[in-house]
Amino acid sequence: MTDPRLETLRQALPTLRLSVEPSDLEHYGRDWTRRWTPAPLAIAWPADTGEVQALLRWAHAQRVAIVPSGGRTGLSGGAVAAHGELVVSLERMSRVLGFDPVDRTLTVQPGIALQAVHDAAAAHGLHYPVDFGARGSCTIGGTIATNAGGIRVIRYGNTREWIAGLKLVTGTGALLDLNRGLVKNSSGYDLRHLAIGSEGSLGLVVEATLKLTEPPLPAQTLLLALPSFEVLMQVFAEFRARVRLQAFEFFTANGLAHVVAHGGVDPFDARHPYYVVAEYDAGDDAQQAAGLAAFEACAEAGWVLDGVIAQSQAQARQLWRLREGITEAVARYRPYKNDVSVRVGAMAAFLARAQALLGDAYPDFEVVWFGHIGDGNLHINVLQPDGSDDAGFMRQCAQVTGLLAGLLAEHGGSISAEHGIGLVKKPWLGSTRGAEEIALMRGMRAVFDPARILNPGKLFD
Ligand SMILES: Cc1cc2nc3c(=O)[nH]c(=O)nc-3n(C[C@H](O)[C@H](O)[C@H](O)COP(=O)(O)OP(=O)(O)OC[C@H]3O[C@@H](n4cnc5c(N)ncnc54)[C@H](O)[C@@H]3O)c2cc1C
Repeated sequence: MTDPRLETLRQALPTLRLSVEPSDLEHYGRDWTRRWTPAPLAIAWPADTGEVQALLRWAHAQRVAIVPSGGRTGLSGGAVAAHGELVVSLERMSRVLGFDPVDRTLTVQPGIALQAVHDAAAAHGLHYPVDFGARGSCTIGGTIATNAGGIRVIRYGNTREWIAGLKLVTGTGALLDLNRGLVKNSSGYDLRHLAIGSEGSLGLVVEATLKLTEPPLPAQTLLLALPSFEVLMQVFAEFRARVRLQAFEFFTANGLAHVVAHGGVDPFDARHPYYVVAEYDAGDDAQQAAGLAAFEACAEAGWVLDGVIAQSQAQARQLWRLREGITEAVARYRPYKNDVSVRVGAMAAFLARAQALLGDAYPDFEVVWFGHIGDGNLHINVLQPDGSDDAGFMRQCAQVTGLLAGLLAEHGGSISAEHGIGLVKKPWLGSTRGAEEIALMRGMRAVFDPARILNPGKLFD
């Protein structure tokens, strides 16, 4: 270890696992965005909360920038270390610490994968409902830091709804035990909720107590092919009025084509402009009949070009793959991602304007749309053409994002629905948050992290 700061860290914390191996710096210095060249100072893997606290005390004293690191599946560059930061990977802290059957809570360390939380909850006959495609690799700490959403928000809400307690180590190394699993706690500011979605800028999540719920009722999954966004919103309204939706996700024909090229199976003979994967409660005859009635009403109205109702779990998984496989299928094009939201009621008006704007703005680029219609959340992926110049592509996308941010502001929307601001969306935070609000956020950060060592350069910094 040549950097003298690392020698002082070794002396302060002789048991801490540290690496400056180029392969580790490369691997742990980037996230899913792959737009920045990783250049961390070193990677640290604390084994427990005590080591995280000692590490943060050292970083505070030495003024060393820290990048908290979960599964690095983030899509906004929040876990990127490109300026000599110390990456603190929580992957060694990945255990289930306890289950409380009366409170119905699961207490876990931050580095546990979302899938492992699902499995642990299921082992107790219960369910942790935050879910999305990166479940096998993303960590609970990362989902809390970004207030992750996913495919079941329409039914269960975002990560925020499911956090009963949090332990947070601040930028000075202090350990906060926030809310301690209480259902009712009317004792002043709820710092737990300030920490959720703070993207590692207020502290490191070192423990979380998660609320669990009953497993969902048996569900029916179906895939619909639709002619337009307008019809998609009508179909959504029809289904929502008749059944209890667990998910309502849309994607476009070119998104489907990318997944099919990666082994997905298109059940239809022809390609159609838009698709929806919907899932609704179908635990009894009445619920199944209601679903069928919704489907028939949409078909009779002439809205549905084609449709398939899954006849087995295996077929339902195949249909889900068509939607969930998109991010992975287009990853090789290093897409520029917009992850935007408006109120569900403003979706139709916003969509019409956004489609026109993006059609004009990107005549030469392939744009893949998908998202969570029921949450007012659209993912707009602009694929980088093979062989094109990185900087030029990014410049053009940033310019269009500026226009999109203006449109979002007009419709009262957000430039980041669920991926966080990180590095990617930082220039447009002001389109979603007022200047006074951002000033207050800065002030709060200064309280939690007076030396400004936590994820500097991200979010509003
Ligand atoms: C295929 C795919 C599908 C996805 N689908 C969705 C989706 O539907 N909905 C959705 O919301 N997201 C989705 N994502 C994005 C991503 O998975 C989420 O943002 C996830 O929450 C990131 O978790 P992570 O552990 O990988 O965090 P990282 O990428 O490692 O970090 C994300 C942010 O959290 C901070 N952080 C990480 N751990 C901690 C900690 N312990 N304490 C404090 N800060 C921390 C990091 O510094 C960074 O700012 C998807 C990503 C992929 C690749």
